Amino acid sequence: MATSLLRVPPPQSLLRPLAVPERLLLGPGPSNVPPRILAAGGRQLLGHMHPEVLQVMDEIKAGIQYAFQTQNRLTLAISGTGHCAMEAAFLNLLEHGDTVLVAVNGIWGQRAADIARRLGMLGTAGQHCPGDGHFPLCFMQGLVRHKPSVLFITHGESSTGVLQPLEGLGKLCHRHGCLLLVDAVASLGGAPIFMDQQEIDVLYSGSQKVLNAPPGSAPISFSNQAREKMLRRKTKPPSFYLDMGWLANYWGCDGEPRRYHHTAPINSFFSLREGLAMLAELGLESSWERHRANCAQLCKGLSDLGLELFVKEEKARLPTITTIRVPEGYDWKDIIAFLMDNHAIEITGGLGPSVGKVLRIGLMGCNSTSGNVDRVLRALRDALGCCRRSRL
Ligand code: PMP
Repeated sequence: MATSLLRVPPPQSLLRPLAVPERLLLGPGPSNVPPRILAAGGRQLLGHMHPEVLQVMDEIKAGIQYAFQTQNRLTLAISGTGHCAMEAAFLNLLEHGDTVLVAVNGIWGQRAADIARRLGMLGTAGQHCPGDGHFPLCFMQGLVRHKPSVLFITHGESSTGVLQPLEGLGKLCHRHGCLLLVDAVASLGGAPIFMDQQEIDVLYSGSQKVLNAPPGSAPISFSNQAREKMLRRKTKPPSFYLDMGWLANYWGCDGEPRRYHHTAPINSFFSLREGLAMLAELGLESSWERHRANCAQLCKGLSDLGLELFVKEEKARLPTITTIRVPEGYDWKDIIAFLMDNHAIEITGGLGPSVGKVLRIGLMGCNSTSGNVDRVLRALRDALGCCRRSRL
């Protein structure tokens, strides 16, 4: 009788069916994926060089150009999440020894500075006054003092719920010989951004927020100035996987025959294509208005519940993610757990500098509805009634 050579048995957990409960994802992302996008991701595979897949990639590229409001030829989706696009932007645009100025208005600035330092760039992080209309002054000082080749800033700071105004910043950077790199992972489709008109040189986002696709692909685009800077590099980018020269070719951005670079996450691309198609069908302006209106309804309802909005100034609020101060007498973890256990709704606590201070409620893409605002307000009212601690 043959004795098995196996010393590790099949795991019991894998012999049970996959369990995925129904939840309303009203955290800062991912957001729920509507049936049309789920169906697209569940389609049968094709080869990553098949003409039909290349056609889908061309459609994604056109969808990103629309969502970003750009004519940039070098526009594509990274096979990875928002962090991957962030790293791709840094490691292609900058070389060892370059100086980058990072505007830190929350965790994403902190992470950008970390990435820059790991790559050997002389990262100069600057705290600044987010949402403050006088921001060009803070940046002007940084641009003059540090003479960076790139300024990084987050448009929608998901850790604090602040929307950073960008007007005039691209022009200011260009006057100082600096390129502007913007993170719009949490804001794209939810708040206006105009890559070309605002003179943004590199813009990236993610698939799992307003676009309502699963995480795993990240739109990115480079201006001509950014492209030229990359072409002048003395050294190759330190990542093969994220090398924009290779990616530009695979995405058909360089006019050369397309070559295999990596096996693209084809089904993620199908989903992203549908997310971008839904945004194109709705129209950017309607999408911005939808996020504005539902965020306003949420903010009013939260104030009516006696909760304090973290971002005081209305125009500085990110329409996709609303932050409230953790109410006095409550533990933020109790509130989150209550909503999850009793209402199957996800909201989250703070992140990075806002941990312990805020609760975050996201209304993104198809999750941004008046009905969902009512649902989360009802759930919060229940939580306020049930979660108060006698002593903290
Ligand atoms: N930037 C911002 C503003 C984000 O909100 C996030 C995700 N929360 C990221 C970057 C990172 O994206 P990912 O989690 O998809 O890597």
